[in-house]
Amino acid sequence: MSNRSTTLRWTRRALVAAAFTLLLLGLALQLLAQFEPEDLPAPAKPSALVFTNVSIVDLRDEAGHIIPKQWVVIVNGRIASLGAEGSHPLPADATVIDATGKYLMAGLWDAHIHTLRLSPQLHLPLLLAQGVTSVRDMGNTCSWSSDPGCRSPIPQWRERIEGGHMVGPRLLQSSSFHLEEIPLEPGALQTRIAALKLAGEPFLKLQLDGQTSTADFARVLAVAQAQGLPVAGHLPHALDLLQLPHQAISSIEHDWSLLPQCADDRPHFDGRNRSKAALLAGLNPQRCEAVLARLAEQGSLYVPTHIASTGQDARLAQGGDPEVAALADRYVPEPQRWLWALMRLAGKASPQEQAMLTQVHLAALKLTQQAHAAGVVVLAGTDALDADVLHGFSLHTELQHLVAAGLTPAQALAAATWRPAQAFGVGSQLGTVEVGKLADLLLLQANPLADIRNTRQIEAVVADGRIYGAQERAAAMAFVADQAQRWRVMSRFVAGLWMSF
Ligand SMILES: [Zn+2]
Repeated sequence: MSNRSTTLRWTRRALVAAAFTLLLLGLALQLLAQFEPEDLPAPAKPSALVFTNVSIVDLRDEAGHIIPKQWVVIVNGRIASLGAEGSHPLPADATVIDATGKYLMAGLWDAHIHTLRLSPQLHLPLLLAQGVTSVRDMGNTCSWSSDPGCRSPIPQWRERIEGGHMVGPRLLQSSSFHLEEIPLEPGALQTRIAALKLAGEPFLKLQLDGQTSTADFARVLAVAQAQGLPVAGHLPHALDLLQLPHQAISSIEHDWSLLPQCADDRPHFDGRNRSKAALLAGLNPQRCEAVLARLAEQGSLYVPTHIASTGQDARLAQGGDPEVAALADRYVPEPQRWLWALMRLAGKASPQEQAMLTQVHLAALKLTQQAHAAGVVVLAGTDALDADVLHGFSLHTELQHLVAAGLTPAQALAAATWRPAQAFGVGSQLGTVEVGKLADLLLLQANPLADIRNTRQIEAVVADGRIYGAQERAAAMAFVADQAQRWRVMSRFVAGLWMSF
């Protein structure tokens, strides 16, 4: 027998063995993925909770200020009274917390996260333990699914969180669909948007191709507006915002999406590194001013997500952040860490490119400050789930980005408390430490107005009146660390990538 046919025979055998192994692995993964993952139950809600001798961080004026020596009384999950020490009688059965030397502020919001079916195991407890008590979900499991019958788990999670059966923040808005292509058939866009409206989608999330024309973008806005569905998402690079008819975009996501609108050279920009230097060179302050004035006038929100946008490009170019990598080792399942490692590898750049990406990042930070100064509502958001962006932890980094952009700590904190509460229509219930509001609070060991990094010095988190002290926070983080290492969670994660659930 010739060497060639022996080689062929062995190659064939190896291929069959590989296919068989893959099949077995696939079946094993499927089987493991069948197990229903467990949820972490929340601590019981005390009927009354009192903070004594606490300093309240009041963010209602631009500078922010501290109101010292206060009592805050929470009854059945709402702030029942507050005032100077001794100004109110304390409820008889209250849990009393001596908060001498501590700072109480409204719980934090992340206005841009993503969820997966595994979020109750991997993300929601982390958000809460890190003081994030409300989120806007910009894309869940169904957004990536090709199954038109995909049902979002979010309504069920909301119920379980409210009942104390699951630890998690308030999931205020959740988007289950991304528009990535404009359907060509006449009437198809109308039908699609009508269906989204009927399904209770809070807005139409746009992730159109970067080269989408201004006319096509305007057409999508017009159809959505005619049906009363707000539009949120990415701006295509080729779009000229100033040429759009007067239709409002309710929220613009990511700094890389808005920055090109400040440049004259948009038609040559394709989002890749090689075209970024020209974009920087073409930034036009007058144009930028006009763009921001229009956004302010139309009431568009701006969620720069610096950490996941130009900040991420600059960081990945340098090989990533070791502190984030250490957190990921603990809280992110291995298959996801591999994906992140691949993205880190792909993002690595030459020293010249690193310097250019840092310049782009600085330009994006400057734009955030200009947007704020022009009256555009800037909100703190992270795009958590993106490479090296961890739920909860990353919001504190984003707050630092906002301060690096030139916002004061009080303005940055407002972007993560009362501004999102107002922007998402729950300003009367959430966002400040005031009588009548829901008790979503953050108790800090140091003053966040003095240094924004102090938001990381968490003493306790109150979510819906339930208190998460050192022990409960540690338990929530240990739960995620444990879940992230479990085979069945890892296999569900991998199976989810394959089967898009
Ligand atoms: Zn996103």
